[in-house]
Amino acid sequence: MLVLGIESSCDETGVALYDTDAGLVAHHLHTQMAMHAEYGGVVPELASRDHIRRVVPLTEACLAEAGKSLTDLDAIAYTEGPGLGGALLVGASYANALAFGLGIPVISVHHLEGHLLSPLLAEPHPAFPFVALLVSGGHTQLMAVRGVGDYEVLGETLDDAAGEAFDKTAKLLGLPYPGGPLLSKLAEQGDPNRFTLPRPMLKSDNLEMSFSGLKTAVLTLVKQVQAESGELDDATRNDICRAFQEAIVDVLVQKSLKALKLTGMKQLVVAGGVGANKQLRAALDAAAAKRGFAVFYPPLALCTDNGAMIAYAGAQRLKFAREAGGFGVKPRWDLASLPKA
Ligand code: ATP
Ligand code: MG
Ligand code: FE
Repeated sequence: MLVLGIESSCDETGVALYDTDAGLVAHHLHTQMAMHAEYGGVVPELASRDHIRRVVPLTEACLAEAGKSLTDLDAIAYTEGPGLGGALLVGASYANALAFGLGIPVISVHHLEGHLLSPLLAEPHPAFPFVALLVSGGHTQLMAVRGVGDYEVLGETLDDAAGEAFDKTAKLLGLPYPGGPLLSKLAEQGDPNRFTLPRPMLKSDNLEMSFSGLKTAVLTLVKQVQAESGELDDATRNDICRAFQEAIVDVLVQKSLKALKLTGMKQLVVAGGVGANKQLRAALDAAAAKRGFAVFYPPLALCTDNGAMIAYAGAQRLKFAREAGGFGVKPRWDLASLPKA
């Protein structure tokens, strides 16, 4: 079965073709980052309009890459939510119209289920069950995953998501949008021993997390440095980036270990944009080697938003496919409410 996947929940138009026999056969992406950079954040109306411009050429590029035509498609999967309403509507309209025209099923996919299952696109990948650390721009959750659609939230952030904390901290350090990945690059050059920032809720005996205080702690540190020595020089800024990253990685690793212990599971899967973070990967790999569990990541290019994870999740849910006709989007949508496959 050949499934076309369409992602348009935020500022990336992602289109991919997943073949249930051959695997991922094509995957194209357009990121709107440069367009939104001028405004320091995503402008929803501009995002919707750009998805309209991109979705057809990206679909054509995927078909050309795979040497397929529209009539080879068996189903179309699209992100129904959560995300920006207008942006989601572009993917939903295109997917439903195309599926209706071709007379094939259309499958609505939960964006976070896409992220969650994306490590299964890598080789080797784990079999169920596993603990998932979902760390994206809008979400930070630890989940027990026992099958497709069988997700138990074990703990989550009470305020900012990890990616959001990266982005907001980058902004207050004066880094250009989108700051998260850049902050992490600068952190690599920073001294881990110069500053120490708090590890929020590290010692709490549950799996809840909190990252908004960390951002405030960075702000306080910046003000303190400025009061002492005027301008924030590059080396000091890099050291602060490092201290921030050390703190966030420490919390994510310790909470993941706690989740593995609590569930008795031996496999950890990391998904979402922050899963691209090198220091997080290194720390989790080291913990896994020491404690004898296995850790899995999505391919690096599939950590942030993409169509491949939507095509893949759609393929796993083919039997839930709806007949064309009548569709909507769900800007807010609880992952735990999904049916088991
Ligand atoms: P959600 O999936 O929760 O709706 P989203 O789609 O915006 O949110 P993703 O695309 O999964 O989130 O990831 C984007 C986030 O990942 C951004 O917050 C970005 O800063 C962060 N990110 C990307 N690369 C890195 C990195 N190397 N280190 C830290 N954070 C990173
Ligand atoms: Mg994005
Ligand atoms: Fe995402």
